Amino acid sequence: MAEYDKCTGCGLCSEACSMSMVLGELSSPEEKLKSCSKVMEGNYSFKDVENIFQCTKCQACEEVCPQDINITAAIDDARERCVLERGVRFAQQRQVIKNAVKYGSPFGKAGSRISFLEGDYPETSDTLLFIGCFSSYMTKGVARASVSLLRKLSVDFSMLGEDEPCCGYFIYNTGDHKTAQEMVDRNRKLFQERAKRIITICPGCTTFLKKYYHLDMEVEHITEVISRIIQDKGITLEESGEEVTFHDACNIGRSLQIYQPPRDIALSMGYRLTEMERSREKAICCGADGGMKLSFPDLALKVGKARLEGVPHGIDKLITVCPFCLQNLKEASLKYGMGVEVLHLLELLDSKLKATQTSSSSIPRS
Ligand code: SF4
Ligand code: SF4
Repeated sequence: MAEYDKCTGCGLCSEACSMSMVLGELSSPEEKLKSCSKVMEGNYSFKDVENIFQCTKCQACEEVCPQDINITAAIDDARERCVLERGVRFAQQRQVIKNAVKYGSPFGKAGSRISFLEGDYPETSDTLLFIGCFSSYMTKGVARASVSLLRKLSVDFSMLGEDEPCCGYFIYNTGDHKTAQEMVDRNRKLFQERAKRIITICPGCTTFLKKYYHLDMEVEHITEVISRIIQDKGITLEESGEEVTFHDACNIGRSLQIYQPPRDIALSMGYRLTEMERSREKAICCGADGGMKLSFPDLALKVGKARLEGVPHGIDKLITVCPFCLQNLKEASLKYGMGVEVLHLLELLDSKLKATQTSSSSIPRS
C-alpha cells in the first residue's frame, strides 16, 4: 500500500506543520499526500507540484501521525517523479545543480573553501572534519569556531580542504536524485579512503551522510563529540547566568534524536535554558530546510517568523547548532523586527573556552 493510501484524514498533522500554520489547510501534510498521490498517478497540476516542494521535510507531521505514514519519503518520491517526467525546476534550483556538478559547491566558483581558517591542518587522520558548503561560504564563523574548538580540545582530525565536495543534500532536495546519487557514490569512496570517522558541522550534511550514504564508518555531529569531551574531561567554564532559549534543528533533532548534547554544552557554559513551547520532537522548523530557502525564500522567512514567535516571553537570545537555521532565523528576526538575537552555540563556546582550560590529558573517544 502506498504511503498516501494509509491516511485516514484525522488532521493531527496539520497542527504540527509549519506550512499549514503559514499557508493554511490547503498546504497541510494531508493535502501534500493527496498531491503526492496525484503525481504518482501521473495526473497533477502545477498546484500539486508547488504543494510538494513547499515542504521543509521537517518530519513534524510524522511525529504525530497515528498511521506512521512516512510523509517525507512520499514527498521525496513525488519530487523525483516531477523532475523525471516534467523537468520541474524552481527559482535557483537549476543554477545550484549546475554549480554543484561543475564546482563541487552549490554556491559556484565562490572562492576558497578554507582560506579564512587559521593555521595548518594535517591531511591524514582517522577522523575527518567535514565542514559543509554552507559554513565554508555563508556562515564562516561557524566553521572557524568548529576548527578552533576541536584544536583546543586536542581532537586529532584532518580536513579535505579545497577538495571537500558538496555532500549532495541540496541537490537531493530539488528532486534530482540521479545527480545526487552520482555525488554520493563519488564521495563515499573518497570518505572511506580517507578516514574511519567523520565529524560533521551542518545537521543537513549529518543526516544525509548517515541516512543516504550507507557508509562503512562512524558519522558524528560535532556537538556529540564536544559534549562528550566536556563531560569526560570535567571542563568547567565561566558561568554565564544568562537566560536563553534553544531551537532544535530538524536534521539532528527529529531526524537523529540528538537533543541533549547541544543542551549539555549550553548548560556547561552556565546558560539558563528556558525551552520553547515546541521543543525537541515537537519543535517546528526554522523554515529553510527541504529546499525551501532555495525555492521559496520569502516563505522560508515567514516560517522563520512563526518559529521566532515561539521564543518565551522576556527572552531575547536564541541558540541553535545549525548554520542554516542560524542564517534563516537571523534574517527573519531582522526582516520582521522580532528583536531576537540568534546565535550559534559553537561560536559562543569558542569565545569562552580558553586553550589552557583544556590542556594535558588525551581525549577519550566514547
Ligand atoms: S515535513 Fe514538515 S513541512 Fe512537510 S508536510 Fe510534514 S510537517 Fe509539513
Ligand atoms: S496525521 Fe497521518 S493519518 Fe492523520 S491526516 Fe495526517 S497524514 Fe493522514
